[in-house]
Amino acid sequence: MMRSNTLFDGLPVLDPGAVWLVGAGPGDPGLLTLHALNGLAQADVVVHDALVDPGCLALARPGADIVHAGKRGGRPSPKQPDISARLVREAKAGKRVIRLKGGDPFLFGRGGEEALALVRAGVPFRIVPGITAGIGGLAYAGIPATDRNVNSVVAFITGHDATGAVPGGIDWAALAKGAPVIVLYMAIKTLPEISARLIAAGRASDEPVALVSNAATACQSVIETTLGGAAEAGQAAPAPAVIVIGDVVRLRAGLDWLGALELGRKLDGDPLGIAPEIRDVG
Ligand code: SAH
Repeated sequence: MMRSNTLFDGLPVLDPGAVWLVGAGPGDPGLLTLHALNGLAQADVVVHDALVDPGCLALARPGADIVHAGKRGGRPSPKQPDISARLVREAKAGKRVIRLKGGDPFLFGRGGEEALALVRAGVPFRIVPGITAGIGGLAYAGIPATDRNVNSVVAFITGHDATGAVPGGIDWAALAKGAPVIVLYMAIKTLPEISARLIAAGRASDEPVALVSNAATACQSVIETTLGGAAEAGQAAPAPAVIVIGDVVRLRAGLDWLGALELGRKLDGDPLGIAPEIRDVG
């Protein structure tokens, strides 16, 4: 293949018969890595999750086969073994395959399971990390995951296990004591139980909490509340949402750069409408 774009010079070739497991980040296509973009530009097939922003898919090579393998709570979706089997099938058929996943493939993304299926099938693969919603999504809400005056520990937790319940085996007392900042994924439904457990384990009910929905997309919205108010606030938060518990949420008062730009959805062509202004400022 001719590859004249200097942007990709020196970057790896996506070989026919190989699969790249790629993190797309939380939404804004500007958060794709160069490896992700390079892979999308070469792909014959892009198998993606529901959480992947359409703006990222639009960057796939023209003519690439875009396959939706969305896994979203409540809706019928392909089963994990079917997705892995599809990846293997496409690779064995000699396709250049991109498996595009929301955020980072190895954080609550089942990237390991899919990669192991490729290992078992003898399919060569590459892992391309992505910006996870629990860090990049928070940043788009003006919330740093750590601040040296606030926390030197941050815990990432999934709000539900394979059955939809709060995962067993979490030591809530240890968590409440040891993790000043807690970032919850997939936790809107289980937030009442999680917040109650944390309060029972000693966390203050007036501790700040933010629910960041559709982070880094054109319809990002943020609800600021407290641990005591989180269960109720959760009912108003659209999915997907990352939920952050801890004093770093207070920093948003000064750091909500997206709100400060007051651009949101105004500009066409850029999902967040921020890039031109940022360039002007820079
Ligand atoms: N691998 C992904 C997480 C997948 S689990 C990552 O690293 O980000 C799905 C959960 O991720 C959602 O329930 C939500 O908690 C979070 N999430 C993913 N994208 C998001 C977004 N754009 N805004 C808010 N939360 C998001």
